Amino acid sequence: MIRWLDMLLAQYNYLLRDRRETYEQVKAPKMGNYCNIRSQGEVCPLTCSVSKSSSVGYPWKKSQNNPRRSPYEIQSSTLPVLKKQRPWYKQIHSTVLQQMLRQLDVAFAKFFKGESKYPKPKRRSRFRSFKYSPGQGKIDENKIYLPGIGWMGFHNSRSIPDGFAMKSVTVRRKSRGWFVSVQIENKSVPLPPTKKTSEIRPDRVKGCDLGVRKLVSVSDGKTIQNPSNSKKYKRQARRLTLRQRAASRKKKGSSNRKKSFCLVASLHEKITNKRSACHWEVAKELTTGSDAIVFEDLNIKGMKSRCKPKPNDKGGYDRNGQSAKRGLNRVISDAAWGELIKKVEVMAGKSGIPVIKVNPRHTSQQCPRCHHISADNRKGEKFVCTECGYHDDADVNGAVNIRTRGLKKLGIDSTQLPWP
Ligand SMILES: [Zn+2]
Repeated sequence: MIRWLDMLLAQYNYLLRDRRETYEQVKAPKMGNYCNIRSQGEVCPLTCSVSKSSSVGYPWKKSQNNPRRSPYEIQSSTLPVLKKQRPWYKQIHSTVLQQMLRQLDVAFAKFFKGESKYPKPKRRSRFRSFKYSPGQGKIDENKIYLPGIGWMGFHNSRSIPDGFAMKSVTVRRKSRGWFVSVQIENKSVPLPPTKKTSEIRPDRVKGCDLGVRKLVSVSDGKTIQNPSNSKKYKRQARRLTLRQRAASRKKKGSSNRKKSFCLVASLHEKITNKRSACHWEVAKELTTGSDAIVFEDLNIKGMKSRCKPKPNDKGGYDRNGQSAKRGLNRVISDAAWGELIKKVEVMAGKSGIPVIKVNPRHTSQQCPRCHHISADNRKGEKFVCTECGYHDDADVNGAVNIRTRGLKKLGIDSTQLPWP
C-alpha cells in the first residue's frame, strides 16, 4: 500500500503539471515552432490541437455531436499507455488509478468554481490515501477484500446495516496505522427535502454566535463551552509542546527523530479526534428541535492574518502586537469554527434543515429592541443598550441579532415573534 501511494503520488503530480502547463498555455500562448514541446502541438491556432485541459492524452471522441473529451477523459486515455511504458503501474488496481484522476479533476473543478485555490503539487506527507470506485470492496465480518491487494484482516468497528450497499472504499494512512472508510448507500431511504420557508417556524430558528471561550452561544439562551478550556485539553496541549520540543532537538535525519515525530503525530491525531467527536455532539444538539440554523459568515483567515509591520525612523521596527496576537490566533485555530459549521451542515442536511450564513457586522453592538448600534452598548460580558436600557448576555444578544438577520434573509417576518 505504501508503494501504491508513492506511485500514485508521482502520477498525480505529473498529471497536475500537465494540466497546469496547458492552463498557462491558454492564458499566454508561447511563440515558437511548437506551443508545447512535449505534445508537439503547433503554434498556428487553426491546427493547434492543444486542449485547454490536458496535453498528454487523446483529445477527441468518436461521436460527432460532442467531439471534445473532458480533461478527465483525456487524462484517463493515457492510463493504458502508462501501463505499457511503466509496467509496475499494472499492480495498482485500475479503479484506484481512475479515482486518483478524479481527485485531480475535483481539485480543478473547485478552483474554476472559485471555491479553492489553484491546485498545488502534493508532498508525500499530504498524499496519504487511495480510493476504489463503487462496488469494488467486500467485507466478511473481520476481513475486507481490497481488489489488487487481497483479503485482509481488519477491525470492523461498525457493521454495515441491512439494506445498505457498499459504495466507494477509501484506504488512508495515518500516524497510528491504516484506516479504511466505506461509503454506504440505501436507495430506499430518501433524503428529506430541504424545508420550505412556509414550513419554518420562526421560534424554531436558531441563531449561533461563535466564540472562543463559549464555543457556541445560541439565541435561545443556551451556551456551549469550548472543550479546549478544559483541564484535560490543556494537559494534552502541554504534552504536545514537550513532545514537539523533544523531537526537534533530535539529530536531523536520525531514526530517533523520526520516532519522536511519530509520537507528535499520534498525539495530534488524538486531539483532532477528540475535537471532532465534540463537534459532532454540538452539531447534534443544534440541529435537534430546530427548523433553520443561522451562522455568522466569518472571515477566519482575515481574523488570523498577521499585523502590519510598523517601521520606525531608526530603520528598525516598532512592536506591532503580532506576538500578542499569536496566542489569539492559536485559540481561533483550536476552536475550528469552519469544521464545526461543516459538521452542522452535514447533520442539518440529513433532516432537511437549511443552514444560513449572515453578515456578522455589528451583531455584538446592535440592540435587538430599538436597533441602536454603538460600541458602548457592550460592556464585557454584558450588553446594555445606551438608548432603551435593554440588557442581556452579550454573546446571546449577538446570537439573537444573527437570528434576526437570518430570518430576514429567509424572508420571514420576525416582527411577529414573541419578544426574545
Ligand atoms: Zn435599545
